[in-house]
Formats: sequence, structure tokens, C-alpha cells
Amino acid sequence: MMTRRPNILIAVSIVLASAILAIAVWVLAQMRDDALRRAQDSVFNVSLLVERDVSRNLEIYDLSLRAVIAGLKQPGVLDLPPEIRQMVLFDGSASAKDMGSILVTNETGDIVFDSQASPPRKFNLADRDYFQVQRDSPNVGLYVSHPFIPKAPGKDITIGLSRRLSHPDGSFAGVVVGTMRLTYFRRLFAGMNLGASGSMALMLADGTMLMRRPYDPKIIGRNLTGTANYTRFTQQPSGEFFGTAAIDGVERWYAFRHIDVYPLILDVALSTQDIYVEWRHRAWIIGTLIAALDATIIAMAVLFSQQLRRRLAAEAELRELARTDGLTGLNNRREFEEHIEEEWLRAQRCAWPLSMLLIDVDSFKGFNDLYGHSAGDEALIGVARCIAQNVRRPGDTAARYGGEEFAVLLPDTDEFGAERIAEQIRAAVQALQLRHVASSHHVLTISIGIASTKGHTFATSRSLIDAADEALYEAKDAGRNRVMRYPAARADSSTLVEQPHR
Ligand code: GH3
Ligand code: MG
Ligand code: MG
Repeated sequence: MMTRRPNILIAVSIVLASAILAIAVWVLAQMRDDALRRAQDSVFNVSLLVERDVSRNLEIYDLSLRAVIAGLKQPGVLDLPPEIRQMVLFDGSASAKDMGSILVTNETGDIVFDSQASPPRKFNLADRDYFQVQRDSPNVGLYVSHPFIPKAPGKDITIGLSRRLSHPDGSFAGVVVGTMRLTYFRRLFAGMNLGASGSMALMLADGTMLMRRPYDPKIIGRNLTGTANYTRFTQQPSGEFFGTAAIDGVERWYAFRHIDVYPLILDVALSTQDIYVEWRHRAWIIGTLIAALDATIIAMAVLFSQQLRRRLAAEAELRELARTDGLTGLNNRREFEEHIEEEWLRAQRCAWPLSMLLIDVDSFKGFNDLYGHSAGDEALIGVARCIAQNVRRPGDTAARYGGEEFAVLLPDTDEFGAERIAEQIRAAVQALQLRHVASSHHVLTISIGIASTKGHTFATSRSLIDAADEALYEAKDAGRNRVMRYPAARADSSTLVEQPHR
């Protein structure tokens, strides 16, 4: 495993999951931008296409009106027989689908020539805006009218395109007007692919609605002046923006343009809903997959780190077991030997004294024989407790060294300090008052040998242990239940203890 730290595992998985999430968010954001860009392109293209179609048709129609005016100016045309005159004035260019009739009126609004009837139908057009505007001003040019229902019965809603006729002195002589059914725009709009809630509208420059998709007859003729979208349409010749329609409250991306030289505005719009519908669907799928992936990664890291934690705990427990003695809970001999090696080197480096005690239970063979082996074990546990209670400084090590032998390591302690501790342990064991009738002291006792580097030069840690062993042997020799320091004097034991340290 790359780490022994379970939390790092979880942290790494969280970083990984976050990175995957960040990438997914970035990709989705790009996809969303792409969706918008595609919609913008398509709206722009449709608006351009429709504008071209409309302006071309209007241009052709205007040419027909101009042709009529030119024809009326030709000397002799008015004197031609009616059928020939019809052919000369109305050349047939206005006979396309959705184009109505071309009419010529006199100054009072009565029809004088009619592309569809000879003699002309008997209507007066003086109440129409396309007549009044031309009558009231000489410089209008081509006028596109508000929508109206033609006077002939059974006709669809229509707009008129008019031009003024003037007498040679410039005074008003009537109008030439061509009618155009709004179904032309309706059909044109229907042919465009704009999604479920797309919209298109054609309006007069003054805000009068001529045609809108989705089609609703009630909207035609309505004036949009004052609405937010119309206001924006009037500010530039063409443009694009996000807006909400006053008519249906739907938010859309708009492209609008003024149609060539004509007083007409076209807008094409895709609803925000439609623009992002496919993206939203994919985002759901990708988002769900990524969330599941991230959850799996983190869940696996948590599970794995739990396992790791459990294993580390088990290992720690094993390590603990490996260095403690099962009976007494003290360190075992192997652990002691590692410690003494470390402390030996440290004491040399720091030039501080290192002392050790070697402890052996007195006449223990006899104790076992008298009281049994398990009573012997209990006694060893008691001795170990006496040792542990008196060896408490951090850095001190108490260990079971052999069967009924114990060792204590006392770093940074001279032989006097070691002797004080040894004496405390010895007294504590005696105070246990474990009956031992075979012993000359009547209770269980211990003997302790002390060795210290203070005042002595030992070559190795081994020789320190040997020195303690030697002192222990001296203590046994001197009658047991006592503490002896190395060097064991060849003299008697009392002088040995009182010998000043060198
Ligand atoms: P001395 O005073 O000279 O030390 O006499 P002694 O009888 O203690 O002699 P020695 O130190 O050689 O005794 C070792 C005896 O300790 C041998 C064995 O019966 C006993 N012993 C060693 N380990 C254990 C143990 O784990 N449990 C028990 N109950 N007895 C042990
Ligand atoms: Mg022994
Ligand atoms: Mg013994």
C-alpha cells in the first residue's frame, strides 16, 4: 500500500472525485455554450433567409406598381381597348400566389383600373390608410399599409403596397395599390425549423404586428409600441439578445433585422427551453454518472481506509505483544536488549551515566517446590509489580530478563540513584510478605546487582550487564535479600557499599 495513513487515502479520493467533478462541470459548460452558439447561428440564418425572401418579393411587387405608373404615363394607353390596356398596365408579374390585385384609383378613391376585373369593381378606397397617406403627402414613395380585410367578400386579411399618382402639376391624382395576403408570411414562417416554442414575427416599423408564428389571428394588427422587445428592435438595424415576449411570456434568444429599405421589422427567436433541452438531457445523464462515480470512489476509499485502520491497529497490537512478557506485562528480554543498545549509544554520545539493575528472586527453586509452580508464577507477578511501581521515569525500562530474573535500565542515573531505586524495590518485595519457610528470611526476597558506567569504563553494553551479574552474584554470596554495587570488592560487602565512587 502506498500509504500507512488512512486519512490520506480519503483525502486523495476526495481530491480525485473533485477533479472528475470539475472536468465534468467544465465539459458540460462547454456543451451548454455550444448549444447556445448553434441556436444563435440557426436563428441568425433563418432571419437572414426570411429577410431576403420578403425583400425580394416586395421589390418585385414594387416594380409592378412602378410599371403601372409608367404605363399610365404612356400617351395613348388610356385610349386603348380595355383588354389591350389591361395587358399593357398589368403585365402579370403580380399574379403570383398570395398576391392580390393591383388597383388604380382616382383622387377621390374610386377604382379606375383593376388587374382582376374589367370593367373595375365598384369600390371606393378613400378610407384606406394607403390612400390617405399618399393623398396627404407627396413624398411617401412606397407605403406599406396596416392589415385590413378587403372589401370584396370572402378575402383573407391583407396589406396594401401603394404609390402615389400625380398630375403633371404635382397635385394628387390617386394611388396605385397592390394587395398582398398575409398568408404569404404565414406560409413562409411555417417552413422554418424553430423548435417547439420558437417564434417569428413581422411587424411594421410603427409596431403593428403583421404576422406571427405561432399563429394567432387576434395578434395581427396589435400594436407593440412600449414593449421591451419592440423597443430594442427599433434601436438598431439588426441585433441579437435574450428577451421575453410580451405576448406569451416565454424567454427566447432573438435575432431581429429591419427589412432592407422597407418599413418592416422581422424577428426570429428560439426559446431558451428549446435551446437547452438536449443539453439538459445529456447533463442529467453525465451528472448522474459522475455523481455515482464520485460516490463510488469516496465510498471505496472510506471502506479501504477502514480496513487499513483495522490492519494497522492489529499490527500495533502484535508489535506490543512481541515486546512484552505475557506473565508479568513487563518488557521481554529481546526488547530490553534493544533498549540497552540504544541507551548505551545515547549515554556515550551525551556523556551521561547509564545504570542497570539485575534482579533475581532468592531460593525460588525451593519456593516452587514448596508452594507449587502456579504460586511461583503469582509470586513473579507480585515481584514485577514491585519493580514497575518503583521504575516510573520515562526512559527507564523494566524487563523480565529470564525465568525469575528481571533487569532495569536507568539512563542518566548514577550508581547512587540506582542504588536508591534498587533498595526501594527490594524493600517492596520483602513487604509483600509472601511466606517462604525454606528461606532464612521466612518471606520471599530478592537480590539485586547494580552496575553503572559512572566511574567505570565498559567496552560494550554486554560488559555492563556482566558487571551487574557479577554484583548480583556477590549479593547472593553475601546472604541474599540485599543490593550490591559493582565493582564487587574483594574485601567484605560493607566496605564495598561505602566505597566512594571513582
Ligand atoms: P538463588 O537464590 O540462588 O537464586 O536460588 P534459586 O532457587 O532461585 O536458583 P535459581 O535462580 O537458579 O532458580 C531458578 C528457578 O526458578 C528454576 C525454576 O524452578 C524457577 N523458575 C524459573 N522461571 C520460572 C517461572 O516462570 N515460573 C515459576 N513458577 N518458576 C520459575
Ligand atoms: Mg535465577
Ligand atoms: Mg533465583
